[in-house]
Amino acid sequence: MIALSILAISAFSLWNDRQNAWLDAERTLRNLLTALAQDIGGNIEALDFALKEISVDVADEALLHLPPLARHRILFDRARTVDYMGGVVVLNEAGNIIADSESILPRRFNGDHLDHFQAHRDRADVGLYVSRPFQSTLRQGDFSIAISRRLSRPDGSFAGVVASRISLSKFNALFQNLDLGQEGALAFLRDDGILLTRKPLNESQINQDLSGTPNGRHFFKERSGSFASTGALDGIQRFYVFGRVDGFPLVLVLSKSVDELMAAWRAKAVVQSSITLLICGALIGLTVLFQRELRRRTRAEAKLKRIARTDDLTSLPNRRAFREAYERVWRRATRVGAPLSVLFVDADYFKNFNDQYGHARGDEALCAIARVLDANIRRPFDLAARHGGEEFIVLLPDTDLKGARMIAENIRHAVLSLGISHVGSPYQVVTVSIGIASIRPSQGGDRDALLEAADKALYEAKASGRSCICEYEMPIVCHGQGLPSVVA
Ligand code: GH3
Ligand code: MG
Ligand code: MG
Repeated sequence: MIALSILAISAFSLWNDRQNAWLDAERTLRNLLTALAQDIGGNIEALDFALKEISVDVADEALLHLPPLARHRILFDRARTVDYMGGVVVLNEAGNIIADSESILPRRFNGDHLDHFQAHRDRADVGLYVSRPFQSTLRQGDFSIAISRRLSRPDGSFAGVVASRISLSKFNALFQNLDLGQEGALAFLRDDGILLTRKPLNESQINQDLSGTPNGRHFFKERSGSFASTGALDGIQRFYVFGRVDGFPLVLVLSKSVDELMAAWRAKAVVQSSITLLICGALIGLTVLFQRELRRRTRAEAKLKRIARTDDLTSLPNRRAFREAYERVWRRATRVGAPLSVLFVDADYFKNFNDQYGHARGDEALCAIARVLDANIRRPFDLAARHGGEEFIVLLPDTDLKGARMIAENIRHAVLSLGISHVGSPYQVVTVSIGIASIRPSQGGDRDALLEAADKALYEAKASGRSCICEYEMPIVCHGQGLPSVVA
C-alpha cells in the first residue's frame, strides 16, 4: 500500500509537471505570437493609412494640373516614412500606372492581370486587400506582397487601385531572430490559406495554398487556438499556436517540436520515476523479506509452544498443557452448568518394574499406557496428559460420574489386556489404579478441590489393592479387582 501510494503521488506530480510544461509552452508561444501580430498589425495599419491618404489625394482634380515632380512629392513623400512601404503605384480603371512612387514619370505597366487589381475591380467591398506573394516584375527576384485599396468615384464605380508593395524580407527580418528550437517553425499566411512566408524560409513553399492540409483546417476555421499534431511530411510531433493579425486577413502560426518542449520534463521524469521505482522496489523487497522472517518466527514460536506443552517420552500433553486446558474447561463448565470429571491414572508397583526390567523397558511400558489413554478418549475436548512420573491424568468435560466410570473401566481393562509381564506385581502384568472425581462446577467453586478429590480416590484405590478404580464420593466407593490384602 505504501509503495502504491508513493507511486501514485509520484505519478500525479509528474502528470502535473507535464500539464504545467504544456501550459508554459502555450503561454510563451502565445505571448510571442501576440507581440509579432501587434508589430505587423501596427505597420500595416500605418501603410493602410498612407494608402488612404494617397487615394484621397489622387482623386483631387487640382493635383492633375501640377508639374510631375510637385505632384509626385505631394502624393508620395509623406508615405516614405512608413516602414513597410515598398513601391506604391496607382492604377487607373484600365490597369495602367498613373502614379508611381519609384519614378516621377510613371513607368509603363499594365496590371489588369494582377489578382489585387481584379479583386477590387470585381467587388467594391473588399477593403484592404492582401495579394498573393509574387516576384516583382519591376524589381527582379524579390518576393513581395501587395497591400491595396480600391479607388472609387463619387458614384461608387471602380476608378482604379492604389497598391503598395511590401517586401517579404521585412517579415523575414522580423522572424529571423525568433528562437523556436531546432524543429520549431513559423508560418505567415493569408486567412484563405495562401502561405506568404515562413521560418525556416523555403521559397518553393511560398504562395502555396495550405487551406486543404490537415492543420490548415484549424488555422483558417478558428480565429485562434492551439493543438498538437504530427507533421505530415517529417513525422515530427509539434505543438501549434495560431492567431490572427487583428484587423487584417492575416494568420500567424508558431510551432515547437513536442520533443523539445518536453525535453526538460522528460529528463526529470526519467530521474524521478527511476528513483521512485527503486524506492518502491526496495520497499516491496524489504516487506517480502520481513514477511518471510515473520512467518519463520511465527512457525518457530508455534513449534516451541507445542514442544513446551508436550511430554517428551509419551508425546501426550504435559502437566502445563493440562493446567491450561483445565482452566478453560472449568470456566466453560461453570458457565453452562455442565458436569466435569477427571481420572488420576497411576501405574502399579512401577518402581519394582524398573528394578526388574530396567528403565528403558519402564519407559516403553509408560508409552504403551499413554497410547491406551489416548485411544480411550474420543470427544474433541477430552484430554489425556502425563502428570509426571508414572502418573497420568484424563480430563473429561461434559462427562458425569457414570460416563467417567465407563471410561476408567475401559482404560483399566485395556492396560490389563496389554499383558506386559510384571513379575514384581501380584497381578503378573502391568496394571493401573484409577481415581475418579466428578463435579458440576458452580460459580466461585474451588477448582483444585476436584483434583484433590481425584487424588484422594486414587490413594484409596492404591490402598484397596491396586488395579482398581475408586470414585470420590462420600463415602468413597471402590470396585474392580482390588485385592486389599496385597501389600506393595
Ligand atoms: P505404587 O503402586 O504405589 O504406585 O508404586 P510405585 O512403585 O508405582 O510408586 P512409586 O511412587 O513408589 O514409584 C514410582 C516409580 O515410577 C519410581 C520410578 O522408578 C518410576 N518412574 C517414574 N517416572 C519414570 C519414567 O519416566 N520412566 C521410568 N522408566 N520409570 C519412571
Ligand atoms: Mg505407581
Ligand atoms: Mg506414583
